[in-house]
Amino acid sequence: MSIALITLGGTIAMGGVDADRPGVVTRLTGADLTAAVPGLAQLGVPVDVRDTHAVPSAHLTGRQLLAVVDEASRAVSDGATGVVVTQGTDTLEETAFLADLVWPHAAPLVFTGAMRNPTLAGADGPANLLAALRVAAAPTARDLGVLVAVNDEVHAARWLRKTHSTSISTFASPNTGPLGQVIEGEVRVLTRLVRHEPLSPIDPDRLDTTRVALYVVTMDDDGLLLNDLDHTHHAVVVAGFGVGHVPATLAPVLGDLAERMPVVLTSRSGAGSVLRHTYGAVGSETDLQRRGLLNGGLLDPYKARVLLRLLLAAGGGRDEVAAALARHG
Ligand code: ASP
Repeated sequence: MSIALITLGGTIAMGGVDADRPGVVTRLTGADLTAAVPGLAQLGVPVDVRDTHAVPSAHLTGRQLLAVVDEASRAVSDGATGVVVTQGTDTLEETAFLADLVWPHAAPLVFTGAMRNPTLAGADGPANLLAALRVAAAPTARDLGVLVAVNDEVHAARWLRKTHSTSISTFASPNTGPLGQVIEGEVRVLTRLVRHEPLSPIDPDRLDTTRVALYVVTMDDDGLLLNDLDHTHHAVVVAGFGVGHVPATLAPVLGDLAERMPVVLTSRSGAGSVLRHTYGAVGSETDLQRRGLLNGGLLDPYKARVLLRLLLAAGGGRDEVAAALARHG
């Protein structure tokens, strides 16, 4: 039994400073991170460290994440019980979801990070890493897809949101709540989810060149910014008001765009679903669907963008996108 630990950087590893500029930077290796965890030895599971990147998570790319999933996959095929990935929290809801869409194993792939860097009092990195390692080793965490262990909670990557810029309880799953908790060191899974079939393998070169825009709707929005978007992008996710509404002036602009590229309707609200058949005004969800927009359901705008990008990179068209949204949204 062993656990692979893949480190990518982020605040959890930002224990150093550069002489020529203020602020912490990534310095800590996986060995440093594990050395800082009290009680790790009692876990009784060897940790096989793979320092892979040392960057703020804003620098991570889809291509790099696909490579991380491949590396994690190889570790499991070579006998690892589970895999932990440490990274910055800023993009964790996107990276973990991307991994979840393609992770084919029953073994847990568990992401974690920290909100307080190791130079601060009450740094949360060691506790989060220990929780993630416990989850990765737990038989009860098998077959749940990609998980996120933070603040002694276990979340499904599929529903996770970063909800606060500084709080250590920033991660939440507003639509479902956490799947489980780590209580006195024991992983308790309280709710199990039904997994989706993983997407077919994605060609990283195609992912690199697949551009999906995210457009956040605001009051008085006339959509000028969307002019010629189909010349530069392959699809767009629209983060509309509430249950999926936009100003009346924007509705025809989005309808025109939907004739040329997939346009997916989501909510900018932070939780809940866009609706399908409740409102009838121009710019409402029924009007936008009639104009060709695809309904993103419960997917938040960021996750809808990740899914759309993977589908298009795999050669999917409008029908494949609609079918995947029906499953995932
Ligand atoms: N900016 C940092 C990052 O995402 C924040 C963090 O790790 O919490 O790398």
